[in-house]
Amino acid sequence: MSHFATGITVLTAGGEHSHAMTANAFTSVSLDPPMVLCCVARTAQMHEAILRTRSFGVNVLSADQEWVARYFASRNRPKGMAQFDEVDWFAGPRTGAPLIAGSLAWLECELAQVYHGGDHSIFLGTVLDASRRSGEALLFFGGGFHQGMPSAKSA
Ligand SMILES: Cc1cc2nc3c(=O)[nH]c(=O)nc-3n(C[C@H](O)[C@H](O)[C@H](O)COP(=O)(O)OP(=O)(O)OC[C@H]3O[C@@H](n4cnc5c(N)ncnc54)[C@H](O)[C@@H]3O)c2cc1C
Repeated sequence: MSHFATGITVLTAGGEHSHAMTANAFTSVSLDPPMVLCCVARTAQMHEAILRTRSFGVNVLSADQEWVARYFASRNRPKGMAQFDEVDWFAGPRTGAPLIAGSLAWLECELAQVYHGGDHSIFLGTVLDASRRSGEALLFFGGGFHQGMPSAKSA
């Protein structure tokens, strides 16, 4: 899988079970209705956060957010809302999930289905809201972060 290039997201949950986690196991599923999926380790705190909140935010990271990806993948970041003190964020209007400023795109999803997938769960989400901006993507390939993709078309 290290030879499959992906973007990088930070998944977020808001409210009582606020949490965030870097994830590249994310893809589109359906256009009508709009649906996406993400795969989260069953042992990760994010797993419990999504199950309890029943919704999640997706922040598609931009080329200059490698530090954000590393931060939300680290085990020693603070718990709860304190972990968001390091980033600028705003509450998603539909779910309240924290959305990270400077990201390339943002989605808010309502949890539609949960499937077992080995040591991960597959969270299928219905997209409630989405927005984007122009910029360069942060990529993950060969076990490392990469920048410099051409700019996407502006919103
Ligand atoms: C580029 C990139 C892409 C990633 N993509 C995904 C993805 O798609 N899906 C995904 O699930 N994860 C992914 N990760 C990993 C994920 O971001 C990290 O594991 C993150 O720390 C999980 O956050 P958490 O707080 O939810 O879970 P945590 O509580 O930090 O737990 C994460 C894992 O570490 C274990 N763990 C926690 N504390 C300890 C400890 N003290 N000793 C030993 N083990 C411990 C847990 O059992 C669990 O398996 C990715 C990481 C990177 C860098």
